[in-house]
Amino acid sequence: MSKGIQSIRGMHDVLPEQTPAWQVLEDRIEQLLLGYGYQEIRMPIVERSDLFSRSIGEVTDIVEKEMYGFEDRNGDRLSLRPEGTAGCVRAGIQHGLLHNRQQRLWYMGPMFRRERPQKDRYRQFHQIGVEAFGFQGPDIDAELIIMTARLWCVLGLKNIRLELNSLGSPQARRDYRAKLLAYLETHRDRLDADAKRRMHMNPLRVLDSKNPEMKVVIDNAPDLLEEIDEDSRRHFDGLKAVLDRMGIAYVENPRLVRGLDYYSRTVFEWISDELGAQGTICAGGRYDGLVEQLGGRATPAAGFALGLERLLHLLEVQGVAPETRGVHAYLVMIGAEAERVGWTLLETLRDELRGIRIVANCAGGGFKAQMKRADRSGAELALILAAEEVGEGMISVKHLRRREAQQALSQSKLVEYLKTTLVGIAT
Ligand code: ATP
Ligand code: MG
Repeated sequence: MSKGIQSIRGMHDVLPEQTPAWQVLEDRIEQLLLGYGYQEIRMPIVERSDLFSRSIGEVTDIVEKEMYGFEDRNGDRLSLRPEGTAGCVRAGIQHGLLHNRQQRLWYMGPMFRRERPQKDRYRQFHQIGVEAFGFQGPDIDAELIIMTARLWCVLGLKNIRLELNSLGSPQARRDYRAKLLAYLETHRDRLDADAKRRMHMNPLRVLDSKNPEMKVVIDNAPDLLEEIDEDSRRHFDGLKAVLDRMGIAYVENPRLVRGLDYYSRTVFEWISDELGAQGTICAGGRYDGLVEQLGGRATPAAGFALGLERLLHLLEVQGVAPETRGVHAYLVMIGAEAERVGWTLLETLRDELRGIRIVANCAGGGFKAQMKRADRSGAELALILAAEEVGEGMISVKHLRRREAQQALSQSKLVEYLKTTLVGIAT
C-alpha cells in the first residue's frame, strides 16, 4: 500500500497530543516577556534573499548552504527566513521604529534551514526571538540574560550553563583577523576543507567549526578576548559586574563566535549537557552595526533566540514538562429530549464557569457508545442526560478517573457542584 504524501524531511507536524506542551510553554514565555515590557512584532516568513546574505553574512553555513530560496514569478530572489533578527531589523527600519527610540521587541515562529536533520536539529524549527534596540550600555545585555535565567527558573529547568564572550569592535576584529589568519596559515595541513576555503574570506568562521578533528587547532588559536579594544572590554566588564551582582553564573569562552556575522561585543549561549550534540537552547548577543548595515541609522542593538524544540526536549529530559490541560467534562445525551435540554445547559455552563472545558456528544449513539467516547475524550467527568434525568430536571454525574459512585443532582445545582469539583475554573 502506498504511504500517501509525507511531510518534508526535517519538517514536522505538531500533533494534538503535543500541542498542549507547546501552548503552555509559549504562554509562559509570553507572560515573562510582557513582564519585562517587551512587545510582540510579527514579520512575514518570506523575505528578499539579499536581506539574509547582507546581514547573516555570505560566508556562513546558513547563507552558503542552508537557505530555502526560490525565484518569485517576477524574478525576485526570495527565501524562507532562516532566523528572525534580519526581518525584525528590516521591519524596524521600514516602519521607523528604531530611530531615536528604545524598543524592546519579541516574535515567535517557524524558521527554515536546510541542515542535516537529526535529533534537535530540524529543517523547520521554531524560535522565540527577543531584540532590544537603542540601548548602548551593557545593562540591556544583562537584562536579556537575567530574563532568560528567570525563564529557566519559571520552567523548573536546572543545569543550563551560560557561556559568554566578547567579539570586540569591528576594528579589533579586523586586527584579530590578521593574527588568526597567520595562525591558520601555519597550521594549514590540519584544517578541514571548509576551514581551508573559509580562512581567507572569514577566518573567524573557522572557530565556529563543529568538526571534532578541528578542536585542537581551534583550542590553540590566538585568543580574541586578549585583542579586544578598551571600550569593548569595559562593556564586557560592565556586563559581568551586573551578572555577578545578580548571582548569575557564567563561563567565559573565548572560542564562542556564533554562526552569524552580525554580532559585535557581547555574545552568549545557554547550553545544556543533557541534550547530546545539540546542546545550545538559547543564543544571542549584541549587533550594533546591523541596523546601519541594512540601511537604517546607526542603532545599538542586542538580542537572542531560543529554540523551542530543544527547550521542550529539555523539559522532558528533566521531567518538568508542564502539566497539560485535558477536558473537564463530557456531556452524554440520550434521546432527542435530552439533546434539547443538553445544548441549552451546556451554554449556561459556559456562561457561568469561565474556563470550563466541556465536550458535547455529537452524532448520537447509545449509552455505551457515548460513555466510551466520554472516556476517550480524557474527561474527568461524564455528565449524563437520559430520559429519567430530563423528566425530573436532574443530571447524573460519573467520575471517569476515580472510583466514586455515580450520583444524580438537580440541574440547577450543577454549576455549584462543578465549581467545587473541577480545578482551573474561574467564576
Ligand atoms: P547550532 O550551533 O545548534 O547550529 P545556531 O548557532 O545555528 O545553533 P542560532 O541561529 O543562534 O543557532 O539559533 C538560536 C537557537 O535556535 C539555537 O540555539 C537552537 O536552540 C535553535 N536552532 C537553531 N538551528 C536549529 C535547528 N536546525 N533545529 C532546531 N533548533 C535550532
Ligand atoms: Mg546552526
